[in-house]
Amino acid sequence: AMVTRFSPSPTGAAHLGGVYVAMLDKDLARHSGGVYLIRVEDTDQARTVEGALLQFDAAFTYFGVHADETPEKGAYGPYTQSERAEIYLSYAREFLRDGRAYLCFATKEELAASAEQQRAAKVPTGYYARWALWRDAPDERVREALAAGRPYVVRFRSPGGSRVTYTDLIRGEITADANRNDVVLLKSSDSPLRLPTYHFAHAVDDHLMRVTHVIRADEWLSSVPLHLQLFDAAGFERIPYAHIAPLLKGDGSGKRKLSKRKDPEASVEFYIAAGYPADAVLYYLRGLINGRLAALPMDQALAEPLRLSEAGVSGALVDLVKLEDIAADHIATLSGQTIVDEVLGWADVHDTELAAAVRAEPGVALRALDIERTGVENPRKDLRKWSDFRSVYGYFFAALFEPVTDPADPRLGGLPAEVVRALCEDFLRDYRHVNDSDEWFAQIRAAAVANRFAGSPKEYKADKDAFVGSTKEAAQVFRVLLTGSNRSPAFHLVTQALGEPETRRRLGAVLA
Ligand code: ATP
Ligand code: GLU
Repeated sequence: AMVTRFSPSPTGAAHLGGVYVAMLDKDLARHSGGVYLIRVEDTDQARTVEGALLQFDAAFTYFGVHADETPEKGAYGPYTQSERAEIYLSYAREFLRDGRAYLCFATKEELAASAEQQRAAKVPTGYYARWALWRDAPDERVREALAAGRPYVVRFRSPGGSRVTYTDLIRGEITADANRNDVVLLKSSDSPLRLPTYHFAHAVDDHLMRVTHVIRADEWLSSVPLHLQLFDAAGFERIPYAHIAPLLKGDGSGKRKLSKRKDPEASVEFYIAAGYPADAVLYYLRGLINGRLAALPMDQALAEPLRLSEAGVSGALVDLVKLEDIAADHIATLSGQTIVDEVLGWADVHDTELAAAVRAEPGVALRALDIERTGVENPRKDLRKWSDFRSVYGYFFAALFEPVTDPADPRLGGLPAEVVRALCEDFLRDYRHVNDSDEWFAQIRAAAVANRFAGSPKEYKADKDAFVGSTKEAAQVFRVLLTGSNRSPAFHLVTQALGEPETRRRLGAVLA
């Protein structure tokens, strides 16, 4: 059984990459009968952003990647690092007791000067053994500094070494330079909460939380040599790492990391706010992690276990167009009622006006959806996300539709106002609310011909002066009055969805 953890830092909006990793964490734990936990890594208090955790929480809920153990529940907590200061402190004390760590009183200025010297000496800069200002300080000096109340950090005494070899569960065997940097384990003694650095905290926590597999972004790959030293120094059993390649963004002809600063679609909030169906996004992401799953139907791809051994070593490209295609295909398989329920669930949070309009006329929503779904017209796939419902179907709802009351409205094609009025008046006098395309056109034609419209575009072209337009122009008038737009599904379908009273109201609005 695998114990996995997702460990977000609440330093900003949740990244889509987080869902990617969390999904993998959850999947591996679930399919092995193990545990998936969430640990909040808030040791960088200066960068902690108010409300960031709520965003992660919203993301977990939306994408169904909730953990078995969280800051709210679980026997291995607390699961929030800022609440674990005592734990790290006790480990740091043990390190200090036998010299695995030491106190460092170097000031910012001294560190900067040291870095300057290293640059001048043309060696890689860092707090390396021979540049480590306090590593070998005599006890006497340390006692003096302590007595003087000088602030200090606790530094790791790196055992150094030349090369280190380990196995990454995705990348296989890796050999890298050993860490020779005396990194900080506990931050400055003059901060109110003596918090550790990520490096120290994650080692202590992954050990104490009995994590068996660490899955994380590959930006941490370069820290592995240090992390292995820390595990060894602490006497913890090493935990295998799987470093996931970052999600990428196509950028002109090249690729780069999908980044929250540059790409709105890097933030989870982007998908939630627009209402991308969670299953479609998960399906897409699963296909990016294990390419094999992209070829399976959604149900199967969501149920099949993810495998670390199938994860790619190079980053996967996030293609929003592809994702939208997948989402549209998925929505097209749903029943009208399911779509309405999903749209309402989304709109209750993100578009309350739409929610109210749809709730007021549930029958209209189902009939409108039916138009596209029966395939009478070209079966369109205009719904890619729940927010599309407003732009595609909004005009069907009385509360969202603004009837055209001005007969001179330019959308009506520039016909004289009295012609538009007469056309509507004649049409409505004999209107029969039928679900039949031919009969609808017959009615339009009758009203049109009675008002000096030619029966066909050809007839109109032959003698433009004799007519005000052809039946085509007349039909456009009705289309705009009914839908507000000069593109729409077939009249008889639109009017059946609207119902007779609303049809009459819209066509009569210019007569009021
Ligand atoms: P920036 O906008 O500064 O580039 P970012 O988009 O990289 O920021 P961060 O806040 O630095 O976002 O990262 C938050 C979390 O998301 C980290 O755990 C990081 O590993 C992960 N992450 C960042 N970018 C990616 C990516 N392209 N693919 C997968 N995970 C990512
Ligand atoms: N808190 C780290 C981050 O958000 C997590 C790294 C890890 O998973 O070990 O980048």
